[in-house]
Amino acid sequence: MAVIDMNKYFHSVVLEEEKCKGCTHCMRKCPMEAIRVRDKRAIIIKERCIDCGECIIVCPYHAQNAITDDLSRLQDFEMNIAILSTTMYGQFTDNIDMNKVYQGIKNMGFDYVYDEGIAADISSIILRNIIEKEKIPKPIISSMCPAILRIIQVRFPTLLKNIVNIESPMEIAARLAKREIMKKNNIKEDNIGVFYLTPCPAKVTSIKQPIGIEKSELTGAISIKKIYGDIVSNTKHITDYDKFNKGSHLGIGWSSVGGQSKAIGIKNYISADGIDNVIDVLEEIELGKLNNIDFFEGYACIGGCVGGPLNVENPFIASSRIRKISNNEEYKSKVKDSYAMDLYKTKAVCWTNELKPKEIMQLDDDFETAVKKIEKLKYILDILPGLDCGSCGAPSCRALAEDIVRGYANIYDCMFMNDNNNDNEGG
Ligand code: SF4
Ligand code: SF4
Repeated sequence: MAVIDMNKYFHSVVLEEEKCKGCTHCMRKCPMEAIRVRDKRAIIIKERCIDCGECIIVCPYHAQNAITDDLSRLQDFEMNIAILSTTMYGQFTDNIDMNKVYQGIKNMGFDYVYDEGIAADISSIILRNIIEKEKIPKPIISSMCPAILRIIQVRFPTLLKNIVNIESPMEIAARLAKREIMKKNNIKEDNIGVFYLTPCPAKVTSIKQPIGIEKSELTGAISIKKIYGDIVSNTKHITDYDKFNKGSHLGIGWSSVGGQSKAIGIKNYISADGIDNVIDVLEEIELGKLNNIDFFEGYACIGGCVGGPLNVENPFIASSRIRKISNNEEYKSKVKDSYAMDLYKTKAVCWTNELKPKEIMQLDDDFETAVKKIEKLKYILDILPGLDCGSCGAPSCRALAEDIVRGYANIYDCMFMNDNNNDNEGG
């Protein structure tokens, strides 16, 4: 029998059982069919979960949450860096000056604040060059969203070769910020804490279990939602503030769907948001129907990272605010092409590890037993009504059949099977 090693799977998304009412909202929305509801409680199947956070968004009882760090962790380090997600620019009302926000965050115990938008500017230059000059199978797929990368590993392994092997702006920002602070302060790397202010549970997971690299440059992540109130109240008392380096409006625009392609400056691209839409596009790519497209950017969240479950603001309002800054002089790119390309050529921002397929669907480690189980699964699927009603606590009849074969459920969990059984017993 295939044994799931639970310790192998760190997940930032967790269920607070005592809050769960077993309503099945999360089970029905989970794009990976990773949730079951048994005995009126949700269960997350860890090997399937990609930490997209869809369940956090839909749970009416706030029973699904993300584990992130809190500010007390800053005490563990001599110096601390905050990496600001590009989505931060959409979280504050127009009358709040972003310089004050930066200063407010710095005053919370950070020595240095670095904008992820600068790293996105660097990534845009590198991607433009790769798309123009390198021979990677088309369309080239963005490596930015870790939830999408996990889906490709699990469901579209043939597309792994299309993924561009550069690190996400979050990782690039952390590396560059650390370099800068080490140089200025003559401090050892181990004594620096680097924390991402995150809109996204999938990124929290990617810090603990990095994709394409051995070890993340980040120490941890703090949910934007968790510290938002403190930031707002801090900004009220700020009169003096430093001038902070910011990404360009295009770099910051990576936070919204279509933003990567706009920043790269290409026209022949597809952008998609929401996991179901992204999966539809990936299917077309897999069938070879989109080889004429240069670039594909997929965001698990609706609207892009602005739709991440750990943000505060509505994604469409946040996107509109971010669009508005495009005319502001303060948001012109300061990154030189030669600087970005040097980072790429010296492999300072490239993945070091090959991305491998991930097996979550296999029914057994032993081939012959797996084949027998597939036969059994087909047999059970034929008996089940095919309504995908979810009343059995599995999201579809197929998922229930799989659970039965794995020994986690019973055919009579299906209420229609129960009815048939009772009818037979009665007759
Ligand atoms: S959405 Fe999921 S976690 Fe939340 S109450 Fe319903 S079943 Fe429980
Ligand atoms: S779209 Fe952005 S916020 Fe949403 S899962 Fe992907 S990286 Fe995270």
